[in-house]
Amino acid sequence: MNGLRQPRRVLLVEDSLADIELTLEALSGAEFKSDVTTVRDGAAALDFLRNTPDGYPDLVILDLNLPRMTGHEVLAAMRADKSLRLIPVAVLTTSSAAPDVARTYELGANCFLTKPTDFDRFVFVVQSVNNFWLGLVRLPH
Ligand SMILES: [Mg+2]
Repeated sequence: MNGLRQPRRVLLVEDSLADIELTLEALSGAEFKSDVTTVRDGAAALDFLRNTPDGYPDLVILDLNLPRMTGHEVLAAMRADKSLRLIPVAVLTTSSAAPDVARTYELGANCFLTKPTDFDRFVFVVQSVNNFWLGLVRLPH
């Protein structure tokens, strides 16, 4: 379980440097700490997940608009992969479009979050999703 396995790991899949900086800052101040790996495109995310030497991340924070593979393509590939399909995926995107939301859940994401433009709100959202998935829920693996 989460509480027994240290440290927790988060994979951040985000191409925007500004959003990476903001998300890392939020995570570093979160109640439940984690080692964060950042990758900046979808193909690199899958490559990391399939070759990670230290075990799977406890949470993937996934942008949708990404170079090389979209977030939806990453999500579809993860959910089709027996080893990756149970990893919690929180989509965090600038989009709030209904078709993006629907597609995200159809592909098996655990939640869809629109990036707040307000700094404090952004930090709140990132810390909330981090604390929920790393500190609160019980997972099957
Ligand atoms: Mg992006």
